[in-house]
Amino acid sequence: MQKGVAVLGSTGSIGTTALRVIARHKDRFRVVALTAHSNGELLRQQVREFGPEYVGLVNCEEEQADGWRRGAECLVEAATRSGVDIVLNAIVGAAGLDATIAALAAGKRVALANKETLVVGGELVTRAAAEGRGEIVPVDSEHSAILQCIAGRDRSEIRRVILTASGGPFRGWSEERLASATVADALQHPTWTMGRKITIDSATLANKALEVIEAHFLFGLPYDSIEVVVHPQSVVHSLVEFVDGSVVAQMSVPSMELPVLYALTHPERVSDSGVPPFDPVALSPMTFEPVAYENFPALKLGIDAGRRGGAAPAVFNAANEQAVALFLAGSIQFADIASSIGSALNKLGGLASGSMQDLLDADMKARRHVLESFEC
Ligand code: NAD
Ligand code: MG
Repeated sequence: MQKGVAVLGSTGSIGTTALRVIARHKDRFRVVALTAHSNGELLRQQVREFGPEYVGLVNCEEEQADGWRRGAECLVEAATRSGVDIVLNAIVGAAGLDATIAALAAGKRVALANKETLVVGGELVTRAAAEGRGEIVPVDSEHSAILQCIAGRDRSEIRRVILTASGGPFRGWSEERLASATVADALQHPTWTMGRKITIDSATLANKALEVIEAHFLFGLPYDSIEVVVHPQSVVHSLVEFVDGSVVAQMSVPSMELPVLYALTHPERVSDSGVPPFDPVALSPMTFEPVAYENFPALKLGIDAGRRGGAAPAVFNAANEQAVALFLAGSIQFADIASSIGSALNKLGGLASGSMQDLLDADMKARRHVLESFEC
C-alpha cells in the first residue's frame, strides 16, 4: 500500500531532494501535502508534478494559486491531515517545531531533517512522540548513520557514538584569517550543497552542536557518550562504539538521497536509492582529525548549552538563527556569530523551559538580545 507523505519545506534543498526520491518510488509513496515559506513558482511546478490534496504557502504576501492555504497555520494542518502517514519536516529553523509536535501527537512518523525542532523542544517533542505514539526517524546523515549502526541492538550495548564533521570551508584556517572570512567564503562548503543557513552553521560548526543535542534526544544518550571527530571526505557518516570495543560505521558517497529514503522506509531497505556504487579505493584516503574547538567556539557553546539543559539549547538556537541571518545580510562579521551566541547564553541561558510558552519566550528574547547587541 502506498504511504501518504506531507513534505514541509518542499522548495528547499532537502525538500527538493525528498521529492526526487519520492518520484523514483511512486509505487510506495504519494505526496498528500506540500508546504513552503516562499518561492510560489517552484511550489506551483511541484503541485503540477505531484498533485497533492493540500498546498500551503506561509508567506502571505506572495502571489499564489486558488485553493492554497496561506499563513503559518498551514504547517500543522498539513502535518496532521488524515491521509498523511509520514511528515517529512524539511523546514529550516525553530519554525518547524509546532508541526513536528502536532504530527507526533497525531501518531505520524516524522522524517526529521529540521534538527532545530529537537534542539529547541527536545523534551516536549519526545513526550509528544511517547504520548501520541508517533515516531521520529532522522534524515540528518549522521543520525541516520547511527540509527543504521544500532539497528537491532539494545541501548545498554552502546558505549559511545562518534559524529563525523566535514570541518566545513574553514577547516585549518587560523584565527586571524577567520576574522576576515566573508559570506561568500562561508557559503563554499567542501562536500555538501545545502540551504544557506545550514551552510553557515557548518562553517561555524554550530551545526555539529545542534547535531550533538539532536543525538542526545533521538537516542537517549548522555552527553558524555557523544563525541565529534573531523572527517573531511564526508564518506563515513558516523560511528558507534559498542561496550565490547567493536565499532560499526555507516558509509556512502555523500548524498542526502540515501538518508531521506531510509527515513521513509526504515527499518526496511529498498533498492534504487540514487546513490552511486561504493568504491572504497576511489573514495580513499578517508582521514580523521580532532576538532579545533578553539577556532570554532560555537561548537562548545552549543554542547555546553545542551548539557545545561532547560531553555539554554533554545537560546543557543535562536541566537544562532538571528546571528546567521545578520551575517548573511552583511551586517555582522563571521566571529560575531559565536560571540553573540555566547552573550545571549550568559544573559538568558537560565530562563524557564517547562512549557511551550516558556520556550517561545526564550527564543524571542534571545533573538532580540542579538539584534540589540548590534543595534539592529
Ligand atoms: P533550505 O533553506 O534550502 O529550505 C528550507 C525550506 O523551509 C524551504 O522550503 C522554505 O520555504 C521553508 N521555510 C523556511 N522558513 C520557513 C518558515 N518560517 N516556515 C515554514 N517554512 C519555512 O534549507 P535546507 O538546507 O533544506 O534545510 C532544511 C532543514 O534540514 C534544516 O533544519 C537543516 O539543518 C536540515 N538539514 C539539511 C541538510 C541539507 O543537506 N540541506 C542536511 C541535513 C539536515
Ligand atoms: Mg548532518
